[in-house]
Amino acid sequence: MKKTTSKASRRYPSTPEQAAFKPSRVFVVSLGCPKNLIDTEDVLGNLDALLGGLEFSHEQDQADIILVNTCAFIEEAVSESLEAILELAAGKRPDQVLVVMGCLPLRYERELEDLLPEVDFFSFHLRPEASARALAEFLVQKDIRDNVPTPATGRRITSGRPWQQYVKISEGCSNRCTYCLIPEIRGRMQCRPPRDIVQEVNILSQAGAMEITLVAQDLTAYQWGRFDLASLLRLLLAETDVPWFRLMYLYPSGITPGLLDVLGDSRRICPYMDMPVQHASSRILKSMGRAYDMSMLNAIMERIGRVLPDIAMRTTVMVGFPGETEEDFSILCDFLERWRFHHLGCFVYSDEEDAPSFHLKDKVLPEIAKERKEEIMAMQVHISAERNAAVVGQTIDVLVDGFCEETDLLLCGKSRFQAPEVDGLTYINKGIAEPGQIVKVKITQSHTYDLVGEIN
Ligand code: SF4
Repeated sequence: MKKTTSKASRRYPSTPEQAAFKPSRVFVVSLGCPKNLIDTEDVLGNLDALLGGLEFSHEQDQADIILVNTCAFIEEAVSESLEAILELAAGKRPDQVLVVMGCLPLRYERELEDLLPEVDFFSFHLRPEASARALAEFLVQKDIRDNVPTPATGRRITSGRPWQQYVKISEGCSNRCTYCLIPEIRGRMQCRPPRDIVQEVNILSQAGAMEITLVAQDLTAYQWGRFDLASLLRLLLAETDVPWFRLMYLYPSGITPGLLDVLGDSRRICPYMDMPVQHASSRILKSMGRAYDMSMLNAIMERIGRVLPDIAMRTTVMVGFPGETEEDFSILCDFLERWRFHHLGCFVYSDEEDAPSFHLKDKVLPEIAKERKEEIMAMQVHISAERNAAVVGQTIDVLVDGFCEETDLLLCGKSRFQAPEVDGLTYINKGIAEPGQIVKVKITQSHTYDLVGEIN
């Protein structure tokens, strides 16, 4: 799980009448995936529109509002969310307000109020506008904020680097993977109108976005009238100027020839696909409720390789699913050896009481599942290192983030083959560039996950 905290104190625009009011400083912890981060930013944008004068605080003790957006799709994420809340609660003063939103309250609903009395406000709403409105009403009622006449709905307040942003194209999921609680927590998939998405991308572009990652639980299921993902991408390419788009979370059987054509036609879409396969054994895939089997997966991989031979692929797999035998595990290892994904995440199955897979027999012992994960990750170390070594000598485009965290002697950034947050970095040890600039970098060294090069 990624944790995003508000890094910089920043004043956001408000109307003149709102500016007369004392601003509220918000300390933010956003747990989980980029989709959660977008929700956090949406809530803050809407809250700012409702009450005005919102500022980020980078210190908890200087904030008026402590807001944590939680993740709760597996037990590990629930524990991390609870730990974060308790840690924040321990440092909270009586005059501060602790707000909890996201998957934890959506999953456990009112029972959380008894479990966590330290929390002042839970949002039980899925939609950011509704969350923000309920929070604004609470703050006004508690006399923490004055009631300001409300302008139109708020826009998302982005908290990260302006040159790298995420845009969510749908919410929820209509698939029925038997181990997954997302459809339960977030509901069936609801797509955003294409015009809304184009408008948001243009706003972010004007604010300096160089790369936009489109995210959803399942991008390939996007449908709005005649618009599917491929036609949405064509519209975005035609009506926005963002140099790079990236696609994250593509359901394997939803990858159509039309989608591959768009990726092949435009250099502005990064040659990168995050396609979680979860497993390769047909028996396990069926038990997981995934809509494909191993032969379909192989056919999809062959098609992708034919149309986009230079694409970087990321996948996620799950080991220790109920009923997974040694033979199933070997099938998965053989599949990963065959297709040699550039980037890979491996998770151990988490037995969630509310998920259909909880009722399956033949649970795999946790220590065996852990060993299987270690085996896969050990195999992947070699694959990733070999993939990276193949780039040495090439000149690639890199979107510069600035000086790297460890030293001011190196710049770092992401190539088109490295997604933000999840993949390795490209370090630059020669040449100067500004954060948010795309530069040509000649790769001189490679490591397991990172590359090193110099500006050409
Ligand atoms: S595709 Fe499956 S795993 Fe992904 S969010 Fe939907 S139900 Fe969950």
